[in-house]
Amino acid sequence: MLACIPDARYGGTMKNMNHVHSRVDAALLAMRQRILKLGETLWAVPEPGFAEVRAMDILAEQFRRLGLSPETGLALTGIRVSAGPADAPEIVLLADMDALPTRGAPGEMLHSCGHHAQMTIMLAVFEALLTSGAPDAFGFRLSFIGAPAEEYTHLDRRRELRRQGKIRYLSGKQEMIRLGVFDNAACVIKYHSMPDSPDRMATINGTLNGFVAKQALYIGKAAHSGAAPHEGINALNAASLALMAIHAQRETFRDEDHIRVHPVLKEGGTTVNTVPDRALLETYVRGSSISAIRLAARKVDRALAAGAMAVGAKVTISTTPGYLPFKPDPGLGALLAESASHFLPPSAMDLHDHSYASDDIGDVASLVPSCQLGFSGFSGTIHGADFAGWDPSPALLLAERILADLVLRLGADGGAKAREIRSAFVPALKKEDYFAYLDECFAEHTSSFE
Ligand SMILES: [Zn+2]
Ligand SMILES: [Zn+2]
Repeated sequence: MLACIPDARYGGTMKNMNHVHSRVDAALLAMRQRILKLGETLWAVPEPGFAEVRAMDILAEQFRRLGLSPETGLALTGIRVSAGPADAPEIVLLADMDALPTRGAPGEMLHSCGHHAQMTIMLAVFEALLTSGAPDAFGFRLSFIGAPAEEYTHLDRRRELRRQGKIRYLSGKQEMIRLGVFDNAACVIKYHSMPDSPDRMATINGTLNGFVAKQALYIGKAAHSGAAPHEGINALNAASLALMAIHAQRETFRDEDHIRVHPVLKEGGTTVNTVPDRALLETYVRGSSISAIRLAARKVDRALAAGAMAVGAKVTISTTPGYLPFKPDPGLGALLAESASHFLPPSAMDLHDHSYASDDIGDVASLVPSCQLGFSGFSGTIHGADFAGWDPSPALLLAERILADLVLRLGADGGAKAREIRSAFVPALKKEDYFAYLDECFAEHTSSFE
């Protein structure tokens, strides 16, 4: 099943590797009902980013039951637990923890991105590998990291946490990078739920866009809409012109840069009878490289200012860093593809997916070799109220087996493959340049054309 990698302590035979594989598979099967129950429990407690207190407690309890002492409260609500030799190459199973506001869901909050499944599946893989004795037997360090606040929501609260000095960056993994949580990681493995599709069961080596977020606040001058609009400055008109000016940039976006600019108008006046003196527009600027995002963001800034200039309003443009584009490590991705191909026919695997969505795994992957398995097994719409949170289909067990297989490939022979991938890795950015980029993205600029 696996390539035969010599391991002195285990005799280095295929037989022993397969023996561990069988024990991991048996453990995954044996814990099946308990794991499904855990998934339901986490599904029932959807919490926003940097507030995943109950999820953190539920996970911590699971690890304590295994006799481990998890670190909690990392980046406010994150969690980490490790097993295996402390000085061995560290293989990280990374899971998102947050839910997101979902209109139409009970309480308007739902795990509609399936992060409850990420926590559950990664915990199952961690536990099966641990109870099979793989980390100590093969000589690798295995960590589970639960990262808060992946969804870029509740920004006012996050900005307030930043003002209070409780966080410096707005996402969980960005904060964890700042705190050095990934400093010793050789490889990072992530899983993400996908809706069921007739075309593909899994995405492997899929890439993601990065983004920056922008807010433009237009201030005009109120006046009677009927009697004296000439005395007013219409902030809604400024924002409307800015939307048109953004659209006028689209023909300049190159296909290969995968730019997405998708503004919404959050405020645009209070009463029909008064010239709107305030309008608020928000958008992301997404792209598949930092340089492409920077260039598109400059065009959007110009367009936002143009609306204010046209009507003589004032505009304050605030920018916050979103996530870096995600590019999986090629070596790690190839190994993931090998693992998946043991369980899936080629027709079920998509090896060339580029999603225009974003995830702060992009930030982690720019500094540490990382990969992500996208796996179906869910129905409904991602981020929609109809997302079905838990389908106890064999797809989930398959995802667990693929991920466990990948860890064993990386961890065999004292983590030789993990070590090799780590040493061949060329980070997209040095850590200090990464922080400089994030810091540079926090910007606010006011232009007045009154
Ligand atoms: Zn999401
Ligand atoms: Zn997600």
